[in-house]
Amino acid sequence: MFNFHSTYKELPAQFFSNAKPEPVASPTIVIFNEDLAQAIGVDIASFNDRQKADLFSGNKVVDGSEPFSQAYAGHQFGHFTMLGDGRAHILGEHVTQSGEKFDIQLKGSGRTPYSRRGDGRAVLGPMLREYIIAEAMHSLGIPTTRSLAVVSTGESVMREQALPGAILTRLSSSHIRVGTFEFAANYENGSSVSSLLDYTLERHYPSLIGKENKAVSLIEAVMEKQAELIVHWMRVGFVHGVMNTDNMALSGEGIDYGPCAFMDSYDPEVVFSSIDRMGRYSYTNQPNIAQWNLARLIETMLPLIDNDPNKAIEIAKETIGQFSRLYKDKGLAMMRSKLGLVSEQDEDEKLIWELLSWMKSNNADHTNTFHDLINSKLPKNELYQQKQFQDWHTKWQSRLEQNNQPLEESLSVMRSTNPAVIPRNHKVEEALEAAHNSDFNPLHKLLAALKDPYKDRKDREEYQKAPEPTEKVYQTYCGT
Ligand code: AMP
Ligand code: MG
Repeated sequence: MFNFHSTYKELPAQFFSNAKPEPVASPTIVIFNEDLAQAIGVDIASFNDRQKADLFSGNKVVDGSEPFSQAYAGHQFGHFTMLGDGRAHILGEHVTQSGEKFDIQLKGSGRTPYSRRGDGRAVLGPMLREYIIAEAMHSLGIPTTRSLAVVSTGESVMREQALPGAILTRLSSSHIRVGTFEFAANYENGSSVSSLLDYTLERHYPSLIGKENKAVSLIEAVMEKQAELIVHWMRVGFVHGVMNTDNMALSGEGIDYGPCAFMDSYDPEVVFSSIDRMGRYSYTNQPNIAQWNLARLIETMLPLIDNDPNKAIEIAKETIGQFSRLYKDKGLAMMRSKLGLVSEQDEDEKLIWELLSWMKSNNADHTNTFHDLINSKLPKNELYQQKQFQDWHTKWQSRLEQNNQPLEESLSVMRSTNPAVIPRNHKVEEALEAAHNSDFNPLHKLLAALKDPYKDRKDREEYQKAPEPTEKVYQTYCGT
């Protein structure tokens, strides 16, 4: 079963509260990730559905588990608030045979000391959405939390209407967020941040423990991870939708997939979340927001950076300023890979922007356009007949020749950078709606289609097609 070696509770008491999941009426397993369970050495093959449902609803707390909820704060749409796990319980930190560690967290498992006015519950649709997105991210090779199970609770949850309740079991290499540091900095006791810093280094960045300036070293490491994460998201056209500081993990994993979506047609300004009215978290703004969030992170550590407050601020500004360059370099390298440019030329940026601006003006499908370029023969699509595109294509072909590498090299880089399939929003919504009506087939079909996203497979064309105008989903709702 689980091999719990939990360390979070060694932090000062203000960082967590012991809290047990609140039992639910009649839990049933909706989906269970057998592959993941095996991969982390959790052997529950012998469990029947009833036992699994009891386990993943929190109705039965397993031996060795001392559930707790975490305290944190966060900037939500720019405004600072005290938060905490208002509807989540960590059962423990599971250590695999190879020494990897995962928080095992139930989400939607009842009220906690941090629930404020919330009911501590979650709705089936959003929990399945998070399950799907996290597993899709993992298959795409993008750092992410994972999904182990979803159970329905047999209870309704009151939102604008009564909706079916559910609990997600999520795995995360930790749940330390930028907001956890903000919580620590807000706590009266000045040593809180220092304790959390040491804990975070030990858990995620042990090689930095002996560094002269631990705070700056941690920030630099997190900046690197976040730049990589955002570049991945941009590569696959993902819009997280709620990049609040409480939804940004120090591990560099994507976390808390709410009203998120992958774009179909390329539009840098795109926003899906119904609550993001100002476009704060639009596709193109994600790198800026990551930098903004990292600035909130470094602010919490100013006293640890230097005893002289002015000097600390100067160092902090200098450090966070480096994010732009870091992101730009990684972002450009990623775009080169998407186009198979395995060497570097000054003109590359122009070539890239020409394609993107053509895609934008023509509402070209983000995923399919890049994937189509891998084929020597473009599909017979009217868009590709346009002179502007043809001219660009010719220019790109001759640029490829200047790589001085076999074409196959470029194609193989493109194949591993441009997925054939993403969880398209209309297919996700279709699966969620069917699940709402107790038909889980579309969910299973979708999850199967999202495996090996870089392979060419003939059996999933339905999932590769861009949505028809009538199928297109423009807005996603928190619905939580
Ligand atoms: P999220 O939007 O899921 O990232 O949640 C933001 C904050 O609101 C977190 O602190 C959650 O724990 C809390 N929260 C969201 N929904 C509920 C709920 N139904 N009951 C209690 N707390 C909640
Ligand atoms: Mg959150």
